[in-house]
Amino acid sequence: MTDCCSTPGLMPLEQGLEKLRQEITPVTEVEQVALNDALDRVLAENVISPVNVPSHNNSAMDGYALRLKDLERTDTLPLAGQSLAGHPFAGELPAGQCIRIMTGASVPDSADTVIMQEQVNVTDDGVQFLNKPEAIGRHVRLAGEDIPEGCEVFTAGHKVRAQDLGLLASLGIPKVSVFRRIKVALFSTGDELKLPGQSLGAGDIYDSNRFALTAMLKRLGAEVIDLGLIADDPEALRQAFADADQQADVVMTSGGVSVGDADFVKDILQEMGTMSFWKLAIKPGKPFAFGRLLDSWFIGLPGNPVSATMTFQLLAMPALLHLMGARPVALQTIQAVCKTPLKKRPGRREFQRGILSTSAAGQMEVVTTGSQGSGVMRSMSLANCYIVLPEQRGDVAEGEQVTVQLFNHFLMN
Ligand code: AMP
Ligand code: MG
Repeated sequence: MTDCCSTPGLMPLEQGLEKLRQEITPVTEVEQVALNDALDRVLAENVISPVNVPSHNNSAMDGYALRLKDLERTDTLPLAGQSLAGHPFAGELPAGQCIRIMTGASVPDSADTVIMQEQVNVTDDGVQFLNKPEAIGRHVRLAGEDIPEGCEVFTAGHKVRAQDLGLLASLGIPKVSVFRRIKVALFSTGDELKLPGQSLGAGDIYDSNRFALTAMLKRLGAEVIDLGLIADDPEALRQAFADADQQADVVMTSGGVSVGDADFVKDILQEMGTMSFWKLAIKPGKPFAFGRLLDSWFIGLPGNPVSATMTFQLLAMPALLHLMGARPVALQTIQAVCKTPLKKRPGRREFQRGILSTSAAGQMEVVTTGSQGSGVMRSMSLANCYIVLPEQRGDVAEGEQVTVQLFNHFLMN
């Protein structure tokens, strides 16, 4: 067996990511979608607020609105009426008077301050103000103070999240321009693969990659064309490649990209298209192939389930986001104390699966999920993060500080 860690010619992860970005041209077709269809889509245009937020001066408290100047000569003002949310006080606030006002209700133009109801005494003569606020404008939220009309709230390339839909709706925007959805044709390769529910023959295993990958592709906002299981047979693979190439923007496979006798995927990519790069200096996930077919991009993920899931997250996801027209999202890493020793051989950057938690004392701590074999899918399932160990380092002792990369939302709850 080749010593994986001393294999020369492995490409650093950053270089692979850079190549993906350089070679993939983002989609340009644009469509308009209603807000309820806009989740996870990528904005094709900047969004400018057509309105002020808030739209009118309004109260931040339940209390009384007045002109602060009117409290210079008296501490009691007669009550002129009320302003409730959706039912503003009609007209100007009469001089020397106050109105009852509720949170969110319009503050009349001529009022400048709200005093909370806890600081007044309501008497037969009107409202007695017990404490005079130190500054004019207290508890009044000014029109446009959060977002002024004309302000850019999103730039093109922003991927729409739940809270963004709330914001867009608050601006009265009913639909947005987004890039068209990308199509990814997916198949698993391997003679040994069976579907869950089928019985296993000698040496068979279940196809798990397609389920994890389909789920992540859906969360990414891609349309998945599921081409099922393809045997380790060059002719069947050629046919599947051609089929997938015709239908999708990206052809994504798992398995068959290593150096075994039945690993035909890489050869067929070279025969039917071009291969841009193949082996990366990461563990797991070394055999990751990227290239171009006639009408699509090709992403060949490793067969081992941990490697397939992890390279999807680390490499395919940023590549697909770029294709979708999205701006790159920075990875979040934090430092944590490693509470279990870790085995590591110098050579490749390792992404060991970890469980991150906060100790009672508020310290970030991480432990290993146990066996780190690239076929141990349980490690992915137990984990909530990767413990990222730099290329050159060796074993980690208990108590050492390590870098942790949180799983993003494709792998989280
Ligand atoms: P390969 O790269 O095709 O040699 O696959 C590497 C390892 O991953 C082998 O043990 C395969 O049986 C396993 N494998 C390949 N594809 C899948 C899959 N879709 N689901 C689960 N395991 C797989
Ligand atoms: Mg295989």
